[in-house]
Amino acid sequence: MWAYGIQKSTRLERLEKKLRIELPSQGIELFNSPIPELRPGEVLIETRSSALNFNSVWSSLASPVDPFSLISNHVSRNPQDSDHAKDFAIFGSDASGVVVDCAPDVHKWTKGDEVMIHCNVVDTSDPITQADSMLSNSQSIWGYETNFGAFAQYTKVKQNQLLHKPDQLDWHQAGSVLLTLATAYRMLISSKGAQIKAGDTVLIWGAAGGLGTFAIQLAKMAGARVVAIVSGEDKRAICENLGADIIINRLEDNFKDFTNEDGSPNYLKWKRARQILKKKGVSDIDVVFEHVGRDTLGLSIYLARKGGKIVTCAATSGYLCSIDLRYLWMELKTLIGSHFATYDDANKALELVASGKIKVITDSVNKISTLPEKLDYLYEGRAIGKIAFLH
Ligand code: NDP
Repeated sequence: MWAYGIQKSTRLERLEKKLRIELPSQGIELFNSPIPELRPGEVLIETRSSALNFNSVWSSLASPVDPFSLISNHVSRNPQDSDHAKDFAIFGSDASGVVVDCAPDVHKWTKGDEVMIHCNVVDTSDPITQADSMLSNSQSIWGYETNFGAFAQYTKVKQNQLLHKPDQLDWHQAGSVLLTLATAYRMLISSKGAQIKAGDTVLIWGAAGGLGTFAIQLAKMAGARVVAIVSGEDKRAICENLGADIIINRLEDNFKDFTNEDGSPNYLKWKRARQILKKKGVSDIDVVFEHVGRDTLGLSIYLARKGGKIVTCAATSGYLCSIDLRYLWMELKTLIGSHFATYDDANKALELVASGKIKVITDSVNKISTLPEKLDYLYEGRAIGKIAFLH
């Protein structure tokens, strides 16, 4: 079968030649791979569509962690998944398709079912999963920390990673939504996240991106006022369409350079950011939706109102961040770490899409052969919504 990811031999060759991976397209390749064999509790899917997530940028760059190290770590925590340790790694964490085979102990799914895959791989026999599956030591992200991801003709998943594809969704939409939608849902809505409420003001970084387009809609649905931060006029337009109340073009409005070269806070720029927001009528920010990290986390904490919350799931610009703790403790703010979502969160979030309350914003629907170039496009921050592939 065809597959996109990386072969160990290619990785070793680059390392031996000391070839740096400057762009994600240099760290992904097309290769032939055997169709995965099923173990108990697993289902084989013939994929129909998939979509890019930023984690495939990290996989391709082999940074901050090489995909083979991530998979070997998964296997050491989950010895039952030892067959994931192969001399190749198939990337991708969002896909939809059709069930073509099930392990004998799988009863919920049958051949021909049209399904969507969510990326929370977890051993449900771990008692903590009853409270929050993301807390289990067995937990990994499919197609990032595990092998046999979305970018292949066939993939295998645990039976509890599947959801029925709603008829209302096209294949490309079904293969695009779950990772970022469910992540944004947990961050803003679920009891484990910021639990926004009507009347809150929510500041959303990267508001036209994969997470951001869902975050705007979830916040508006909850009755919040949305302050959307973007970097271009085309991105502003999509945020307007989604109902954002205040939109800041961070490049044109000089809403940038919050962190000095050495990583320390640029307090002058922090004050200026507060002034810019005030001029636009924003004085109290209840919740900041963070995923940028190094360049903005310190500012995000500074900007939240007394008693406000900052919820974060990532660090696109770097994971070593300077924060000024005085603005956290003196002002009684809460910094919430969040990571993907439970099956329940994913299911509830999907219902919002199936019922038409939340729209899937698609940057483009592409042939899978364009995957490497589309990874570079995502890496360069050009995507608006989701980049989808039909297989
Ligand atoms: P996208 O690329 O679609 O959107 C991210 C946006 O962030 C960019 O388009 C850009 O928007 C903005 N951004 C990037 N760098 C900066 C910067 N230095 N300053 C301000 N804004 C910046 O990615 P996603 O929304 O899909 O994902 C975002 C991050 O979240 C990634 O790192 C991803 O790995 C992570 N993630 C984590 C998850 C988890 O479960 N932990 C799940 C999903 C994603 P603009 O230029 O318009 O301002």
